[in-house]
Amino acid sequence: MKILKVSDWAMSPKSNSIDLYHNSQFDPESPCRPVLFIGGTHGDEPEGVRLAEELLSWCEQAPETSQPWALIPCLNPDGYEAGTRTNGNGVDLNRNYPAENWSPEASKQRYFPGPGPASEPEIRALTDLAEKVSPRLFIHFHAWQPMVVVSGPENLPEAQALADSSGYEIKHDIGYPTSGSLSQYGWKDRNIPVICIEEQEKIDLETVWPRFRSGFEKIFDMMGTC
Ligand SMILES: [Zn+2]
Repeated sequence: MKILKVSDWAMSPKSNSIDLYHNSQFDPESPCRPVLFIGGTHGDEPEGVRLAEELLSWCEQAPETSQPWALIPCLNPDGYEAGTRTNGNGVDLNRNYPAENWSPEASKQRYFPGPGPASEPEIRALTDLAEKVSPRLFIHFHAWQPMVVVSGPENLPEAQALADSSGYEIKHDIGYPTSGSLSQYGWKDRNIPVICIEEQEKIDLETVWPRFRSGFEKIFDMMGTC
């Protein structure tokens, strides 16, 4: 399918550019709501960046869909470059969303939520985009313990497709509090389902895409009509 690249879509605190890719159906004016794919929120989880990059390459060969989508391969280039969870300001981007339950508290430095909700340029860019296009689904790519975490309705077909493909279990709660996270901002505050793919951390990167490929094929098949 035809893919358009928005170079320098956003800029990180350390002046690394963040790119966004989308198909030609992606249009803020369209009543058809897009799916947003986000890799590299945490810089020390290269599995998620790899998965996003491979998905993008696969999309180039895949047939057109009538539904819009957009993909950010690496939301946190500062952290990715430095091998840290946090961005160039030392902020955990998945605690910086302007969710109603955003909290300045952090149990560990690595979860530092920033000086205020949406204080970070990466999160402002993403939430500005989300406010404009009202996505129907967020899927973000992480690595920790293998699971597909769903914040959304029971039996979400996209989550089932990813679970079937990977053999990973669907969970509805990651097991610890995540104030200011994408799940809170998306599902709890806006009723937009959020799927968080947790790949096994430190796994051979070559194995990541083959494990999820058939799940994404199904998800794109489901985007046939709007
Ligand atoms: Zn993560």
